Amino acid sequence: MSYEFDTRCLHLEEQDQAFPAANYGALSFPIYQTSTFVHAGVGKSTGYDYSRLQNPTREQVEKIVAGLEEGTDALAFASGMAAIATLMELFSPGDHLIVDEDLYGGSIRLFQNVNRKNGIEFTSVNMSREDVESQIRPNTKAIYIETPTNPMMNVIDIRALAKLTKKHGIWLIVDNTFLSPYFQKPLQLGADLVVHSGTKFLGGHNDTLAGFLVPGTEELKERLRFLIKTTGAGLSPFDSWLILRGIKTLPIRMERAQENAFTLAGWLKAQPHITRVIYPGLEEHPGYEIMKQQASGFGAMLTFEVDSEAYAQKLLENVRLIHFAESLGGTETLITYPVTQTHADVPKEQREHNGITERVLRLSVGIENVNDLIADLQRAFR
Ligand SMILES: *Cc1c(COP(=O)(O)O)cnc(C)c1O
Repeated sequence: MSYEFDTRCLHLEEQDQAFPAANYGALSFPIYQTSTFVHAGVGKSTGYDYSRLQNPTREQVEKIVAGLEEGTDALAFASGMAAIATLMELFSPGDHLIVDEDLYGGSIRLFQNVNRKNGIEFTSVNMSREDVESQIRPNTKAIYIETPTNPMMNVIDIRALAKLTKKHGIWLIVDNTFLSPYFQKPLQLGADLVVHSGTKFLGGHNDTLAGFLVPGTEELKERLRFLIKTTGAGLSPFDSWLILRGIKTLPIRMERAQENAFTLAGWLKAQPHITRVIYPGLEEHPGYEIMKQQASGFGAMLTFEVDSEAYAQKLLENVRLIHFAESLGGTETLITYPVTQTHADVPKEQREHNGITERVLRLSVGIENVNDLIADLQRAFR
């Protein structure tokens, strides 16, 4: 793996050894839109048998993502939730997981309503503030986090948790959707498994759903390969191709979106009805120092609080260039209202405990000209 990160978004080194005779020399990787593969005889497989097990286009995007996260493998799923649901099949009734309390709403819904019914136990902890070790039980199998968290942008120390999970012989699982491997590589910091909603920064264009699991060990790789072929939520060839195409520009999109996010964070802080701007790239953010140690950037997600619910709703109705929509990580800037969108199914008490009130808004900053974004907000604020 000697190519630099940016080059690895475009090229697989193993394919650059010779003139590309495969695929008729096509520069763009083909979409193998086939469900099955022909055999020349018994025991003479091309290496592909049936697309649920593996498909060349899916394998291509998996190799690219494995290289970016520096995993032993990567597995591509039809969505981030399909990836997380498959990952939860690693656990059995009676197993216990410690999860951060401020997770993506869909992950909380899965854990509380589906996995719990199947006998898996959960303890949720604010891992940016509270002690985790005291929550570990004999049946604890893993710690599951996102950092920065969604939507409150709390920062969790990945290295410190990895030390703890190694000491207790349990897994550390990190959902790295918010920063992407361009800014943060949890496996390098000691995590065992990385999760992605590829729908977000990896795909990057607000047009495709995808998810990834990136194991850091051979054992996890084997177990997850068995699960993806058995449960069948692998990414389709066409969507694999769209994610391949999206990843090509990951570094330049991340840089531009982050630059815009810094500018917007500073601008928002100076606006009259804004009571709080939460962006980990601001020095006053409590996680700023940890972020500098474990990530190479601060990302393009920022959360802010306005002084009333009415004001939040007015803003959502009046934005035009910025779209009021769920999701994040795409080229277009989106504004999200966590209480009615991403976190609507999280019980109200937990939401409020986490600080997700009717006055909280989340911005996924895109790559537009930042002056146009500011002008749009300025007009919507009036
Ligand atoms: C969106 C998201 C998910 C779920 O992914 P989908 O692709 O929407 O299924 C999981 N984790 C995080 C942090 C997300 O933002």
